[in-house]
Order: sequence, then structure tokens, then C-alpha cells
Amino acid sequence: MPSNRQILLASRPTGFPTEANFRLVEAPIPAPGEGQFLVRNRWLSLDPYMRGRMDAVKSYAKYVEIGEVMVGGTVGEIVSSRHPQFAAGEFVTGRLGWQEYALSDGAGIAKVDPKGAPLSYALGVLGMPGITAWMGLLDIARPKSGETVLVSAAAGAVGSVVGQLAKIAGCRAVGIAGGAAKCDHVVRELGFDACVDYRRGALHEDLKAAVPDGADVYFDNVGGETLDTALRHMRDFARITICGLVSQYSATEAYGLRNVRSILVHRIRMEGFIVSDRMALWPRALAELRDHVAAGRIRYRESVVQGLENAPRAFLGMLRGENFGKQLVALS
Ligand code: NDP
Repeated sequence: MPSNRQILLASRPTGFPTEANFRLVEAPIPAPGEGQFLVRNRWLSLDPYMRGRMDAVKSYAKYVEIGEVMVGGTVGEIVSSRHPQFAAGEFVTGRLGWQEYALSDGAGIAKVDPKGAPLSYALGVLGMPGITAWMGLLDIARPKSGETVLVSAAAGAVGSVVGQLAKIAGCRAVGIAGGAAKCDHVVRELGFDACVDYRRGALHEDLKAAVPDGADVYFDNVGGETLDTALRHMRDFARITICGLVSQYSATEAYGLRNVRSILVHRIRMEGFIVSDRMALWPRALAELRDHVAAGRIRYRESVVQGLENAPRAFLGMLRGENFGKQLVALS
């Protein structure tokens, strides 16, 4: 009998998580009740926000309880349905968790056209991370043609799209990424104008060379020392989008910014956002991203591991920067 393999949160991490914080279990495959449908997940997305959900702290979303299935976005196929709007054979995406099968009543679920683009893109460039890039750059930072846009985690799912959208908007795009191979990818394959390898340990000097006149926009995905150093390289009236703080998610002590003076001196506007706050913008963002991908204006890369059992290892690897582009788990 086939079963439903699931990954549960086994314990809460102290500092950087380990594979022991997760547990693989097998459960019976559930049958849909009236108004429900059963999805066989094909792809699982691994995202930095999941690290936050492992801690029992108050945040913009509820944390995962010990023994619960880990939260996560998936794309899958409906295998049986007792829901009037969802039929077997249709493909859907939603937060169905780290598991091979899931029941849904349709809440928070969107249909995916399997012919439009590879199914997995619904978890990346044509899904939450792509929309995050679009929203944080075009709706919050609002760069003008000719301006310089700096973005951290530039080789990742969000950052790679930010830089390419900046180029489309007529800006100079400069990335910050970990390692020479990632920087090479960001410039040669994604078309950024420059990329700084922060792991070299000379970020301030390297930013001086890469953005000699300062940046008009800094799209921050990492926080901590990178944000602090970037604050020293901003122009007057610059905008800083606080999208994520991945360098801090496992920190046991809060990072204290030293260069706050720059916010005053340069009259910087700094704004945090959560992509799900502005759902009204999602259809427009998706339509534009689809056009850019179809026309080849946005290039897109995925890092894929096979099998649910490898999700914890891949998740930890993503938090350490082992991924190029979007980190996914193939479940079929
Ligand atoms: P990525 O694909 O960018 O993967 C995470 C990357 O973070 C790694 O590849 C690594 O790249 C980088 N990183 C890890 N540790 C550090 C560190 N100590 N210093 C600098 N960089 C580090 O993830 P996503 O694109 O999915 O997410 C990017 C950011 O956007 C995250 O902070 C995430 O939480 C945030 N986010 C926010 C949303 C919102 O609504 N506000 C929605 C979606 C994402 P490298 O090798 O270059 O170090």
C-alpha cells in the first residue's frame, strides 16, 4: 500500500538548525471528504522564511508546532476530488507542506497551467519569490531609469529576479553574492553589470569599486553586516527595501547596525514588506513576470534535489548558500 511520507518539525533549533530538528514519517494517504480534494505534490519549495517558522516566537505568521508537518509551498496534481471547482488531473499550487499528499478545501490554492511554463516555476519566478522581487523593487523602491540598484543574495530566487527587473527598468544592477562562481553567474548569465563577492571579506572596499557614486536602491535580502556595510554606499534620497534577513534567522544575538547615521545624512527611506500584504498586486506582477520569462528577458535557474527524505539537508544547504537560484525538492 502506498503511504504519505511527511516531514514533521521534531524539535526547535538553537542557532543554526540540524537534520535532527526534522522527522520523516509515513501516514495513510487521506481520502477527500465533501468539499475537499487530494493533491499529490510534485514539487516542494524550500524558502528561508521556514527557518523562522521553526521558532516559537511571535511574527507575521504562526510558527509550526512540534510534531506538525513543516510548512511549505508545493505544486501538485489533483488525484481525486469532491470539490465542485477542482477536478482530478488539474495542477494546483498552495501551502500544502513538506509531504507527498495533502488534502485541501481550496483555500489559498491557485490553479497552474501545465502548458504555460515548467510546473516548478510556480514556486519561483512565477510564484511567491518572483512576486516578492517585483513588489519590493517596483512597488516599494521604485527605481528610475539610469539609477543604480544594489541587491544582496543576488544569485538566489528573489535576488536574481530583482537584478534582472532592474535592468529591464533601465537601471545599473549590482549584486552581492557569496563566492566567485555565484558572482560569475550573476554577471555572465543573468546580465547584472557587476557583482561583489562578500565572502572575500572586503565588502566595503569592493562596494567602493562597484558602486563608486553610491546606490540609489538597496534591495536587502540578508541584513546584518551586509546591510550595515551597504548603508555606507547609498546616495542621497536612496531607498532601501528590507525584504529578508537571512544572515540573521539563526542568530542567537541581534545584530546592532552601526551606520544608522547614513539614513539621516542621505535622507534614506527604508521600508520592510511582506509579499502577502499586497495580494491585489499579484495578478499584475505575475502577468509581467510571465511576459519577461517568455520573452527571455528574465533568465531563471533552479537547484533541485530528489526525494522528500532529502528536503532537510537541502534546506540547511540553502540557508548556507549552496543553492543557485530557486531551491526545490522533486517529489515524484
Ligand atoms: P535564496 O534563494 O536567496 O537563498 C538564500 C541565500 O541567502 C543563500 O543562497 C545565500 O546566498 C544567502 N545567505 C545565506 N546566509 C547568508 C549570510 N550570512 N550573509 C549573506 N547571505 C547569506 O532565498 P530567497 O530568494 O527565497 O529569499 C531571499 C530573501 O528574501 C530571504 O531573506 C527571504 O526570507 C526573503 N523573502 C522575503 C519575502 C517577503 O515577503 N518579505 C518573501 C520571500 C523571501 P550566498 O551564497 O550569496 O550567501
